[in-house]
Amino acid sequence: MGMSGFEQATGRKPRTVIIGAGMSGILMGYRLLKAGLDHFTIYEKGESCGGTWRESTYPGLHCDVKSHHYCYSFALNPTWSKEFPAQPEIYAYFNRQAEEFGVLDKIRFRTEVGEARWDGAKWQIALKDGSSDWADILVSATGFLHMINYPEMPGLETFKGAKFHTARWDHSVSLEDKRIGVIGTGSTAVQITSALAGKVKHFSLFQRTPQWVLHVPNEPYSEDQRQEFAKNPGLMMDIYRETEDAAHYLTMGIMFEDSPYRADLVQNALDNLAKIKDPDLRARMTPDYAFGCKRLIMSPDFYEAIQRPNTELVDDPIERVVPEGILTKSGRTIELDVLVLATGFNALAYIRPVEVFGEDGISLEEVWAKRPIAYETMTVPHMPNFFMIGGPYSPVGNISLVRVSELQSGWIMQCIEKIAAEGVAIAPRQDATDVMIEGFREQARKTIWYKGGCSSWYLDSEGVPGIYPYPSDKFKQDVSAGPRFGDFAIRPLPETEPA
Ligand code: NAP
Repeated sequence: MGMSGFEQATGRKPRTVIIGAGMSGILMGYRLLKAGLDHFTIYEKGESCGGTWRESTYPGLHCDVKSHHYCYSFALNPTWSKEFPAQPEIYAYFNRQAEEFGVLDKIRFRTEVGEARWDGAKWQIALKDGSSDWADILVSATGFLHMINYPEMPGLETFKGAKFHTARWDHSVSLEDKRIGVIGTGSTAVQITSALAGKVKHFSLFQRTPQWVLHVPNEPYSEDQRQEFAKNPGLMMDIYRETEDAAHYLTMGIMFEDSPYRADLVQNALDNLAKIKDPDLRARMTPDYAFGCKRLIMSPDFYEAIQRPNTELVDDPIERVVPEGILTKSGRTIELDVLVLATGFNALAYIRPVEVFGEDGISLEEVWAKRPIAYETMTVPHMPNFFMIGGPYSPVGNISLVRVSELQSGWIMQCIEKIAAEGVAIAPRQDATDVMIEGFREQARKTIWYKGGCSSWYLDSEGVPGIYPYPSDKFKQDVSAGPRFGDFAIRPLPETEPA
């Protein structure tokens, strides 16, 4: 085989650095190995793979996307114990796959990337431990759920019991004999409520905003079924495809008022709400905004859980945290031994706090001065040979992020193959990116997320959703079609002395 354009320019094969060894970083590593581009390192700040599945270990944590779809399509797993198994199984799956793919040897754990700077030919990378590295190609695989959102709440530091965010669960604290308070009513708080309410001395759920909750049962797989899956992987692929189709209808029903798929979903949520027997409690837990406006919650038993003994919903707003618990606006003190912050993440922080400087020293913060932008969710103007899995306007919400990452990493590989074959630096053109983002924002204003009368982490500083605003099958089609290189600025790499 002759020398590629990249080898002619540089005298070697391209080197890639991936930031993050979560689900998407492992996947990117797998794809590079498959393509024979094995000169790469994955930097991971934690001690193992799995990203958010390593950091979050709270009681009741499971994925609300079916596991036969929340996995790599080329590494289906016959051993899932349930349709929606708990965190330890998912965490183990990703770590096992990293090893099986041969990616594990490529990961440098406990190493955080501080800065990446394009020097005109490659990325110079500064690591927080004081060392440095370089790369021809930089891939951000940092995920959505690692920048913790600590609430600004007066008196929080004065609480004298145990206090932690759900992504920093302190397993040394016993729970059964304790009065537990959980702040928040997102997916996390709902799962914790199902796991703990009625099983501890007292459980208080502090609700600022009621949620729409779909009833979704979680059936175990029998040993026979698991053996069947192992013998006949086609059965797993059937579930994978069915779940993907269902996710498409689900997102349509959530996003658009006039969707034919909406009525059944709304009815499910209303029937679910009707399980609350006390009319006063039911009224307090009924949202005053449109169904689907916030990320939909799915649970087999949340409303049963909140009605268990020694369990209370507190919707009296929090005035402040005091040493013995929480003081509400109406002047009541709720005494607590453990305070759990289920207050979520700064989901749209993307690669931050890593600092990135592109062409002519322009910073990512400057390119993103108005709002985070990306061409086709994965590339950023003025940032040559830089790619993001799960970048701005990626589909998030009630769909499988593993599937999204598979589509995105496939598209990114096509870019990387072009870089390797031709010896070029590529970045999307600003004008092409602006047109795309304008289209996204115009479409985003047509969704329930924008019109539904709620606040949510989907919204940017102007109240417009910063996530993919079309049905998920459009994303699949567009990304599967591959990069349109006409929308890119493509420059030959400067010829350098062989390294
Ligand atoms: P979240 O959805 O962002 O919810 C945070 C909750 O904390 C909200 O109820 C919010 O109230 C409340 N909150 C925040 N600051 C507060 C304050 N100062 N005072 C009172 N309440 C406050 O967070 P999450 O539940 O941790 O979920 C984060 C993301 O993780 C989800 O969106 C989801 O993508 C993912 N997740 C997924 C699964 C899964 O099964 N796939 C499970 C758990 C989490 P408001 O609503 O009033 O803002």
